[in-house]
Amino acid sequence: MTTTTDVILTDAGPLDDALAQLAGAVEKLGYGSGMHQLLAKPRREMSVSIPLRRDNGDVEVLSGYRVQHNFSRGPAKGGLRFSPHVSLDEVRALAMWMTWKCALLDVPYGGAKGGITIDPTQYSTGELSRVTRRYTSEILPIIGPEKDIPAPDIGTDEQTMAWMMDTFSANVGYTVPSVVTGKPVSLGGSLGRSSATSKGVVHVALAALEYRGLTPSFATAAVQGFGKVGAGSAQFLAEAGVKVVAVGDQYGSIHNSNGLDIPALQAHVAATGTVRGFGDSEPIDAAALLGLEVDLLVPAAVEGVINADNAANIRALIVVEGANGPTTAAADKILAANSVLVVPDILANAGGVIVSYFEWVQGNQAYWWTANEVDERLETRMIQGWRCVLETSIRRELSLREAATVTAVERVADAHLTRGLYP
Ligand code: NAD
Repeated sequence: MTTTTDVILTDAGPLDDALAQLAGAVEKLGYGSGMHQLLAKPRREMSVSIPLRRDNGDVEVLSGYRVQHNFSRGPAKGGLRFSPHVSLDEVRALAMWMTWKCALLDVPYGGAKGGITIDPTQYSTGELSRVTRRYTSEILPIIGPEKDIPAPDIGTDEQTMAWMMDTFSANVGYTVPSVVTGKPVSLGGSLGRSSATSKGVVHVALAALEYRGLTPSFATAAVQGFGKVGAGSAQFLAEAGVKVVAVGDQYGSIHNSNGLDIPALQAHVAATGTVRGFGDSEPIDAAALLGLEVDLLVPAAVEGVINADNAANIRALIVVEGANGPTTAAADKILAANSVLVVPDILANAGGVIVSYFEWVQGNQAYWWTANEVDERLETRMIQGWRCVLETSIRRELSLREAATVTAVERVADAHLTRGLYP
């Protein structure tokens, strides 16, 4: 097992980062090696081959995974990612972070994650439907409303969830809406789910600005990633009065020091698929976006973008992690040394799993809430989470990430200790 005394000088992968964060929390909490191993190892992993008949008749075999890191506090919960970079280790890291996120926000789930190694932009809708359905059918024995509940992540959306729900339901012989969350409202999805992650990001971003004595209408922000999390974060920051001066996606980044017109940019992205080429802005490179002198930097794309190579260039006062694992363990140390306040992913982007939980609750009760009820309960939970992490960080003299991880790990370990070890 790694300990915090093993100095991290260079970037490892997301799994090493997740394990290093866990090791730090275990050390602070004083747990022994048995508990450490219990929390470090996924409870269950499934690797599947997914044969796909392409539209031209060729057959291709893709790789897919579902990792259930922990279910001591309830069924496993976590997104499904479609990306060419998906690997088993990445899915393991993401599943572990889901366990901590659910525990930190006190939603009654453990953590899971799924992934398929595929570039979804290179496949037709029919092909994506067949891939999703075959994957669902392969992992069917280990998912279900009381076992493991998938949701959208990078490269997947509510249509993907509708296909999963339909495949699961067709196989068991009756309709099971609560096997997934993030599904279309017409199939039992929750109002407010699609905006939940980004609204949650903005609730904690505004709380962090206030904590640092900054007023939204005088604050500036840069957002990396303009998908489900990034575009909404930019929109809700702008609606709160923050000047969003730069955004980027995998195809390019743009900048306007007077603030970007976010609704017009969303229309541009809907039409072209990228922020690149948006009028009333100049292009900047991705590294320059991360190094802008802004109050808020919101990485909302992929893991490891703030790393040992570029962390010293970050000039933002506050980093709010919309993405999972955007800051490597090595970068964390550099940001801390430079007094950059990092609001960690397991708190900052928890809005999605909170409203996924609300969706599951509504589905189980077959009784739906209004958009206002969802939004108000989301805000209450996010602010409770922020206050809990801030209070722990001050009381125990920890960074916000350490405070969040320690709080979450302690709750999961408590559940293990209270349940006892079977047999
Ligand atoms: P998405 O597929 O909707 O969007 C991803 C965006 O990131 C796209 O704009 C893409 O172009 C951009 N991108 C990809 N690689 C990039 C790179 N190297 N540099 C700059 N931009 C890049 O995905 P999403 O659902 O918005 O997820 C983004 C992040 O948020 C992921 O880390 C995901 O795990 C996390 N997250 C998502 C949710 C959710 O509800 N969707 C919840 C919690 C956390």
